[in-house]
Formats: sequence, C-alpha cells, structure tokens
Amino acid sequence: MVKRRKRLYRKARRDKLPRLIEKYGDRCFWCGHNLTPETMTIDHYIPLSLDGSNKTDNLRLACYGCNQKRGNAMPEETPEIIAEKSCIRFPSHWPQPKYHFGQLVKQGRIIGIEYQAPGTRRAFDLGKGWIYAVLLDDLGYDTDQLKESEIELPSLEKLENEINYEKSLVEIHQNNKTVLTEQLEESQHD
Ligand SMILES: [Zn+2]
Repeated sequence: MVKRRKRLYRKARRDKLPRLIEKYGDRCFWCGHNLTPETMTIDHYIPLSLDGSNKTDNLRLACYGCNQKRGNAMPEETPEIIAEKSCIRFPSHWPQPKYHFGQLVKQGRIIGIEYQAPGTRRAFDLGKGWIYAVLLDDLGYDTDQLKESEIELPSLEKLENEINYEKSLVEIHQNNKTVLTEQLEESQHD
C-alpha cells in the first residue's frame, strides 16, 4: 500500500513538475529560493486537509523547509508562520543546501553547515558551495568536513536500525527509571 502510494506520488511528480516549473519558475513559491529537481516539493496552495484539490492550479513548488514549516496553514497565514519559524536565513542567490542540521547521513550526523562563497580563499581551499561538518560517531569524538557531493544518504535499513536502537535505549532508561523510583519510594517508607 505504501509502495503503491509512493509510486503514484512519483508519477504525479513526474507529470506535474514540468508544468509547475513553467508556470511559477524553479523557485520556492514562499521564500523564493532556487530549487533543483531534488530539492523541490509539491505544495498544496490550499491544504488538502482544508478541502484543497490535487489539481495543478492548487499546486505550487516549495522548498522542503517552507513546506514543512507551513504545515496545514491557509495561504494567507503562511508567510508569517514561515517567517516565525525561520531562524536561519541566507541570500536568495545562494543555492539551497541539500541536507539539513541533525540529518543522519551515511557518514554520520550533520552538526554544521557552512557556505563557501565562490572567489573566497576558503572556497579555493575547500571547494565552493556547502560544506557539512559531520559527527562521525555518537560519542562525539570525530568530525569530518564533507562537500555536498561527498554526502551519501543512509539506506532505509540503516535508518530502521537506528530507530530500533534508539527504541531499545528508551526501554532501558524506562526500566532504570522504574527501578530507581521504586527504590526511592521504599527508602521514604523506611
Ligand atoms: Zn522556501
């Protein structure tokens, strides 16, 4: 079922993206940032949950960030909501970074993002564009600086394993908390 939905979504995307790009340009409808096919999402102008339709005239292109921040807000209230939730802004002629803070990638977890503007010394040394500081292990000892082109996404299996691992930690902590709470209660009754 999920697979089928994904397929349908991909097909709708393929069909609709060219028309939307032609109509609105390849930029985010809300913040104006340039989008690439990988970073564009399809946004419902009037949200589906508020009876918006799936027809092209109710669709816009949006960056992932704006689409997420907006949630199910009506178009009139959207710019304000997006502005309130944005704490990181950068010039609109900079490309949108492909990855975001905290994201788990194959190499580790992204904890820093830095833009190397073309023509600067650092861009000369490190390569221009977005550079990501990646924490290579959970103990936080080692970080690496990676170019956007070097970043790879983790497999679905790895993501699922990570979630299961975190779940097991939650269980362990929950058990520890129960034991400690019981011990505290016992001591209070002594
Ligand atoms: Zn945007």
